[in-house]
Amino acid sequence: MSDLIIKNGIVYDPLNNIDGEKKEIHIKDGIIVDKVNGDAKVIDASGMIIMPGGVDIHTHIAGAKVNTGRALRPEDKVPESNMKKTKLTRSGTGFSVLSTWLTGYKYAQMGYTTAVEPAMPLLEARHTHEEFLEIPIIDKAAMPIYGNNWFVLKYIRDHDIDRLTAYVNWILKVTKGYAIKIVNPGGVENWAWGKNCESLDDPVFHWNVTPRQIIESLAKVNEILKLPHSIHIHCNNLGHPGNFEHSLETFKVCEDIKVTNGRKRSLHVTHCQFNAYGGTNWGDFSSGAAEIAEYVNAHKHLSIDNGQVVFTKYATTTMTGDGPWEFALHHLGGVSPWGSKPGIKWVNGQVEGESGSGVVPYFFAPKNSVNAVQWAIGLELMLLVKDPYQIGFTTDHPNGAPFTTYPMAFKWLMDKKSREEMLKNGVHQKATTATTLSDIDREYSLYELAIVTRAGNAKTLGMKDRGHLGVGAIGDVAVYKINPEKYTGQDLEKAFSTSAYTIKDGQIVVKDGEIMAVPMGALIRAEGKVKESLMEDMLEDIKHSWRDHYSINFNNYAVQDVYAPKEKVVRN
Ligand SMILES: [Zn+2]
Repeated sequence: MSDLIIKNGIVYDPLNNIDGEKKEIHIKDGIIVDKVNGDAKVIDASGMIIMPGGVDIHTHIAGAKVNTGRALRPEDKVPESNMKKTKLTRSGTGFSVLSTWLTGYKYAQMGYTTAVEPAMPLLEARHTHEEFLEIPIIDKAAMPIYGNNWFVLKYIRDHDIDRLTAYVNWILKVTKGYAIKIVNPGGVENWAWGKNCESLDDPVFHWNVTPRQIIESLAKVNEILKLPHSIHIHCNNLGHPGNFEHSLETFKVCEDIKVTNGRKRSLHVTHCQFNAYGGTNWGDFSSGAAEIAEYVNAHKHLSIDNGQVVFTKYATTTMTGDGPWEFALHHLGGVSPWGSKPGIKWVNGQVEGESGSGVVPYFFAPKNSVNAVQWAIGLELMLLVKDPYQIGFTTDHPNGAPFTTYPMAFKWLMDKKSREEMLKNGVHQKATTATTLSDIDREYSLYELAIVTRAGNAKTLGMKDRGHLGVGAIGDVAVYKINPEKYTGQDLEKAFSTSAYTIKDGQIVVKDGEIMAVPMGALIRAEGKVKESLMEDMLEDIKHSWRDHYSINFNNYAVQDVYAPKEKVVRN
């Protein structure tokens, strides 16, 4: 691979405090260097801006539930999202649940080079990695799900933090995972009995522990292991009117957790839009975003991502480890462009004693009052949280919308006129009357956009080799055709939909929206350190009850190394 110099572009590199400066970027052997000496390929980026490759902190792109979504929704293969085979690329389909190859191509075309799958059931980890191997170009990481796992519940019940720490670390290793994911703590286990956890102190049946204890214990373990990312939570009560108060209570659980590993945060709350609801029912449904943002602005121990809703021509496919929520959503149904209720078909699953899941098609309708308020809340969060390092941009792909719609939302963040147009003519008036969106003047700058789409997400994830363009970073770069001095909402949407260049590890993978190369990205995983004797003691203990818990042999549980031929391990 030849070395690369990108000249004449305007650089936005927030982690190095570079805010729109003309600067050359040099890449040697896939790594950013001060200066390339000798022969190099030169890209002339005149009239363009340069950012680090995009980093998506939360996107459901691989694994069993994604594949279930594909099977459940043959109608999702709409002609507009089909990609034809070329000499270099394979064909692909899927609007909201994309085929694996398409996922890599479409992220790269938007200038994204890293994506994190945030819900990997442990027993189905192998499936996640099998799909990762078929997603080209981008680097991937996956978060194993811990919050309703019987061994986790048992060790918390027994106040056995040592074995809990050993178990968490063992799972990270054997599933090749990156961080501790918690989905509706305790609630998914109670769902096996047809119930849920509605408060932090609701007991989990038969285990005598509470969601509060689950969050607190796993947050402590996260710090003992000094993992690169904080715990990553999908709160209880997701999707329910009035849930913002529960979210605030959840934030408070981690206020006193002592962070390690040079991180500032002990907690990341994901797709917070779905947990920022006011009102008491769907009739008086309103925004609780201002209260959420006020808390985030006053506390440094947490980060969030927004989980933006974007209106699209076709229904999206919701998918989550939150089984009880998907059951509720299935009953809520929704309207559909083809006239039937897409909520009628659904899948709800349980992964042995580990976790649950659900998949339900859903159509967000702009003229539906609730959907309009949801749309506004996602934007309110982005605009009301003052420090962009505390909030990442996501759609919780594909729950709020497919990731391919990001550029449309960037337009609403960066151009008030585009928001006003939506409020006036695009969405139900409740987006104006039941939220604060119409009162907000803030417009994101390109610098701030670079934070919420790459720099901040990389930092929150603790991935130090990306999200910036400093010496030593991997050569992941996005170049977009836009005049930073003057742009309209439409210009923004167009520029960020199709990168002028996407560069992965120093190789041009996209030029003017066309795929130029299809290297295989790396798997990024993380692990902490646990004393060997403690690990042996924990393994002895779980092997003892393995047969009661699992349908598969212990020796078949770990994902073999052959599933991650190109891995990067973050250790401390
Ligand atoms: Zn999610």
